[in-house]
Amino acid sequence: MKKYILSTLIVVLAVLVGLVPLIHLSPIQDRYNLPTETVVFPPLKGAVDRLAQSIQLETISQDPRMLDTAAFDAFGQFLRASYPGLFATLNIDTFSTHTYFLHWPSTSPDAKNYLFIAHQDVVPVDQKSLDQWHYPPFSGAIEAAPGDSEGAEIGYIYGRGTLDDKSSLMALMETLESLAFQNFQPAHNLYFCLGQDEEIGGQAGAALVAEHCRQTGLSFEAILDEGGIISTGSIPGLKHTPVALIGTAEKGYLSVEVSFNVAGGHSSMPNTKTAITQAAAFTEALSDGLFESEFSAPLEGFITHLAPEMPWALKSVFANRFLTEPLLLSLYQKSHTGRALTNNTAVATIMASGIKDNVVPASARVVCNSRILPGTTPDDVLERYTALAAKYGGTVEPYQNMGSGATSTSSTESAEFLMLGQAVKKLFPDALVSPYLTIGGTDSKNFEGLSKNTYRFLPMVLNPEEVAGIHGTNERIALEDYHKMVDFYTVMVQLWSAGQFPK
Ligand SMILES: [Zn+2]
Repeated sequence: MKKYILSTLIVVLAVLVGLVPLIHLSPIQDRYNLPTETVVFPPLKGAVDRLAQSIQLETISQDPRMLDTAAFDAFGQFLRASYPGLFATLNIDTFSTHTYFLHWPSTSPDAKNYLFIAHQDVVPVDQKSLDQWHYPPFSGAIEAAPGDSEGAEIGYIYGRGTLDDKSSLMALMETLESLAFQNFQPAHNLYFCLGQDEEIGGQAGAALVAEHCRQTGLSFEAILDEGGIISTGSIPGLKHTPVALIGTAEKGYLSVEVSFNVAGGHSSMPNTKTAITQAAAFTEALSDGLFESEFSAPLEGFITHLAPEMPWALKSVFANRFLTEPLLLSLYQKSHTGRALTNNTAVATIMASGIKDNVVPASARVVCNSRILPGTTPDDVLERYTALAAKYGGTVEPYQNMGSGATSTSSTESAEFLMLGQAVKKLFPDALVSPYLTIGGTDSKNFEGLSKNTYRFLPMVLNPEEVAGIHGTNERIALEDYHKMVDFYTVMVQLWSAGQFPK
C-alpha cells in the first residue's frame, strides 16, 4: 500500500512539474495564418512538358570537375526559347560559363533587394542502379506510378533533377513568365541566381555571383534557396502532420588527413603496434564522436515552433528541458538524421596503407569528414581531431584546404520569414511551419554575409521514401506538387517584392 501511495505521489509531482512550464509552451503557428493578398494563375500551357524537357538535358556535375559544355549550352538555349516574356523583361548576366544572374529591376529609388537561388546541375546516376529506375533517369517520363491501376491519371514526372533542383528552377521560370505576361511591377529589386555547379560546391558558379555582389556592394534583404522540404512522417510526435522545414542555417564542412607513422618491417616478425593498427584504433575511437551532442540555434527554433503542437507526453518532455535534455538528446541519437542535427559529425571516408602482402607498412593515412554545427568553428573541430589522433600517435592536417564554418543563423522573427510562413499556410493549410538546420550544402552558403535573412526551403511535400530519391533512384515529382511549387513562388515573389499588377 505504501508503495502505491509513493508512486501515485511521484506521478502527481511529475504532472505538476510538467504543467507549470507547459503554460509557457505556447503555440506560435497562428502568426503564419495571416491571409495574403496574393494571386496565383492557372499553369501556363506546356508547363509540365517543359519540366520534362529540362530533365532530358543532362546537365551533370562531375567530380573531379568536368563540365559538359554542350549540355549546359543546350540548357541555356532551352530556357531562352521557353520563356520569351521573362527574357524580354529581366536583365541577364552570365558568370563563369553558364551561371545566370537575372535581375528584375524595380522603378522605386529606395527599393530593397531580394534573391532567389536555384541550380541547373544534377548529380550523376550510379550506372549500377539503372535497372532499379522505373523509367530511365534522363527520360523525363510523364507516367503513373508503377502498380497504379491501368488508366490511372498520369501522376509523376520521373528523372534526375525532378526534386533536386530543376523543379525549383523551372517553377521559378514559370512564375516569372506568368508575372511578366501580367505586366507585374515589383516594388523591390528581384534577383535570381541559376548556378551551374552547386553539386560540387558552387565555386565556379554561385560563388562568382556572390563575389560580384560583394565587389559592387549589392546585398539582400532576404535570400531563398533550396534546403528543407515539407516533411511528412519523419518527425516524432507529428507523424501525420506535414511540417514545412525552413533551413535557417547550414552546417559547415571540414576534411582532415590523419597520418600514422610507425616503423614497418618484415611481416614474418611483426610488432603488435603498426601504422595500420593505430589508424584502425583511431577510426574506431572517432565513431564515439569528437564533441557532446547539442541543440544548436536552428534546432531550438524547431523545438519552439513544433513542441506546442505535439501530443501531451512529448510536449511535457520538451517543456521540462531543464530535466529532460539528456533524454531528448539521447532520443535524437537513434536515427542518422537526428545525429546529424545534433552533432559535429566525424567519419573516416578514405583509408590507405600498405604496398605488399609481406611488408608491414611504415605509414597509414585516414581522411575524415566533419559537418560542423552553428556555434562550433572549423578550428575547434581541428583541435579535437588533433587531440584524438595524438592518443594514437597520429598527426593531423587539413585535407585539400576544404574547410568552412556553419553559416550564421537567420532569424524567424523577420518579416521575410513571416511571409514564407504565410505562403506555406496559403498553399498547404495543414502544414506546420518550422525553422530547421540544413545538413547538406546549398549555393546560398556562398552568399554568407550578404543577407541577414537566408532561408533554405523547397515547397514540396515528401515522405522519407520520396526523400531517398534525391541523389538516389526513382527521383520523381507529382504533377500536382509541381504546379503547387509554381504557385508557391508566385506568392513569394509577390510578397517579397511588394509588387503590383496594373489596374
Ligand atoms: Zn540541390
